[in-house]
Amino acid sequence: MAASTPLTFQPILERIAEEIERTPGRGRPADYIPALAARDPRSFGMAVAELDGTVYGVGDWREPFSAQSITKVFTLALDLAREGDELWEHVGREPSGNPFNSLVQLEYENGIPRNPFINAGALVVTDRLHTRTGDAASELLAFLRAESGNDGLDFDLEVAASETAHGDRNAALAHLMASYGNIDNPVPVLLDDYFRQCSIMASCADLALATMFLARHGVRADGTRLLSLSQAKQINAIMLTCGTYDAAGDFAYRVGLPGKSGVGGGIIAVVPGRCTLCVWSPGLDERGNSVAGVAALDRFTTLTGVSVF
Ligand code: GLU
Repeated sequence: MAASTPLTFQPILERIAEEIERTPGRGRPADYIPALAARDPRSFGMAVAELDGTVYGVGDWREPFSAQSITKVFTLALDLAREGDELWEHVGREPSGNPFNSLVQLEYENGIPRNPFINAGALVVTDRLHTRTGDAASELLAFLRAESGNDGLDFDLEVAASETAHGDRNAALAHLMASYGNIDNPVPVLLDDYFRQCSIMASCADLALATMFLARHGVRADGTRLLSLSQAKQINAIMLTCGTYDAAGDFAYRVGLPGKSGVGGGIIAVVPGRCTLCVWSPGLDERGNSVAGVAALDRFTTLTGVSVF
């Protein structure tokens, strides 16, 4: 990873961090897992990575946090690269308008989840990648290590165990979809794979770099192509319409970028052809998005004029 140098984006990041520091009200960390609840809501980090791998950062941008649902983007990319359009027979591409862990829609749409970024959809994608690789989480971890250049990235098995202990709703989603024939692997095997993915610890710098293949229209850090131009466009589009729980409309309105959030308080965002961003602050709003994270991305696109619109 290239060191941070005070060029174009650095003063903007510093200005945003100062503004965030002065803003009261950070939301509350997710409390359904003790390990997430313990994080300080005043933590804030933000990184911007350019196409050549240069990374700018401010605040806690090198501090690892629980990536959680941000990982759904990478698992989707890894599976789409392998199986192509057949995936779309098993998961849709429409915003859900329901909470990320909702069961209701599955019943009246025959076990086909609305999109790959709600939990039900991510479980289907993980199931399919598990069938193809034997271990989707290890595949994902290897990808994140390679793209970030950080071999130290790893699972937090305590977080994964905590999720398993509180995993009734995800188990219910998986069993319901299995009853419609939309899950291939035994549910406990699938859940273990899914929770290990969610538990990966990574920093803003790591995740900004790992997201770069989407800014580079499908091309990985080593120059090889993971996705076709169309597939990269498709994932960016799904991030824009479905990436921030049932607040994707508001996120698109405020930030104007494809993004994906997680309950650990991280959000990744993509400026295709230009750069990637990752911001982290553990305090969440009522829909599960980082309060300071959304505010910081809003300020970034407002101050720079850089967005997809
Ligand atoms: N592991 C979490 C769950 O499935 C992911 C939550 C999230 O970041 O949206 O409940």
